[in-house]
Amino acid sequence: GFGRRIKLNTCFYDDNCAYLQKAIDSEQNYNFVDELENKLSSYLGGRAVLTTNTGTGSMHMAIKLAASIAYGSNDYKNKRVFCSDLCPIEQAMPILYEGMIPTFIDSGYTDFNIDPESLNKAFELYSDTKIVIINHLYGFPGNVFLIKKICEEHGAILIENASEAFGARVDGKAVGTIGDIGVFDFGKGKIISADSGGAIAAGDKANIEIVRSLADMSKEKLPWNHHNCIGYDYRMSNITAAVISSQLPHIDEVISGKRHIFERYRDNLNEDLIYLNNSDENIEPNYWRPMILCDSSINAKEKRSENGYSYEDIHGTSSPMEIIDALDAFGADAAPLYMPMSMQPLFKSYELISLEGKILYLEPYNTETCLFSSEVSRDASRRGLCLPSDMTMTEEEQFQIIEIVNACFSGQSIDRDTTETVMMACGM
Ligand SMILES: *Cc1c(COP(=O)(O)O)cnc(C)c1O
Repeated sequence: GFGRRIKLNTCFYDDNCAYLQKAIDSEQNYNFVDELENKLSSYLGGRAVLTTNTGTGSMHMAIKLAASIAYGSNDYKNKRVFCSDLCPIEQAMPILYEGMIPTFIDSGYTDFNIDPESLNKAFELYSDTKIVIINHLYGFPGNVFLIKKICEEHGAILIENASEAFGARVDGKAVGTIGDIGVFDFGKGKIISADSGGAIAAGDKANIEIVRSLADMSKEKLPWNHHNCIGYDYRMSNITAAVISSQLPHIDEVISGKRHIFERYRDNLNEDLIYLNNSDENIEPNYWRPMILCDSSINAKEKRSENGYSYEDIHGTSSPMEIIDALDAFGADAAPLYMPMSMQPLFKSYELISLEGKILYLEPYNTETCLFSSEVSRDASRRGLCLPSDMTMTEEEQFQIIEIVNACFSGQSIDRDTTETVMMACGM
């Protein structure tokens, strides 16, 4: 083992005590929230910014803002929202908060974000859709300029969820500033992490002011509490803003550290394993979570159910849970890929649109239906996993992790001291 836990994501933490002291000192009464909004605004090319207490809160506000712009009123119940299929629940759940209809869009194999072809297909089927939400999966940007163009052709508003990709760029432009509305997250494990926190950015300052009021209980600007409409308690705390402010100056260091971790995996893992992210020259990921895909033959090998999972030990191939268990036995955290939204029982009655057309819910653990589905998001989720990307991990520790993963996959022999345990952990 490593003698300590190697985490999926631990980022650079500066000594933020001075910042915290300043945030809670009632005499200084220092306003980190305003300061952070200004800093984020300049980092995001001058976009207007509102900070919030969670990324989910920001996503909720972004959907409300997009809907009020698209429909010019609060009357948008049962209107459709296109949403990436491969994303965490925090992106999709707020669509339901607003009584709108999510329609999920399949991923493409280049970047596992929304596939532009499938999005075109979705607009052919539902041409009056006015809101599209994309996610830059695990910090690796999608084809956002093309997606933006498709949205413009259909008069739809693009919400760019940059929660996992803060600091990533496309054509030199920060992700979250290419779509109409950008959403950011500074929660646990993110590249800038204050335990919880989010932000929303938009080109039009007036729009952000509308959201600022909504996220502050719709309190009117009067000395007393006067409320005309529904509001939400979504503002960021001064302490959270202080912690984020202490980390923000280190963003380049963090991304460069993450890039080295990613490159070490890329250069040393069995070449059939690593998912090579979109390597177009114009893409600069933040490398938040390196992801690998196992052989597609694992379908027969690994079975998941509501009660857990099992896998057979077959040489020359491996499955996500087998690798995750092997790493766990050594004291390192890895994680399965997101289970797509279209497989969540919660979204049973909503469609997924892929190149094949539209399909309704597939039971997530029904191997027969799942095995023969051709959707990219489902394929990726069955055989993908995220590797440890802990910034405190040493090069030596990462090479041990690489050895464990390679051993699981190929059954090849590795360093004598670790071989036995690896073989055991891999069920060999
Ligand atoms: C982390 C994250 C969020 C926000 O999650 P919170 O639980 O609100 O911090 C939203 N979208 C994506 C894609 C995320 O990764």
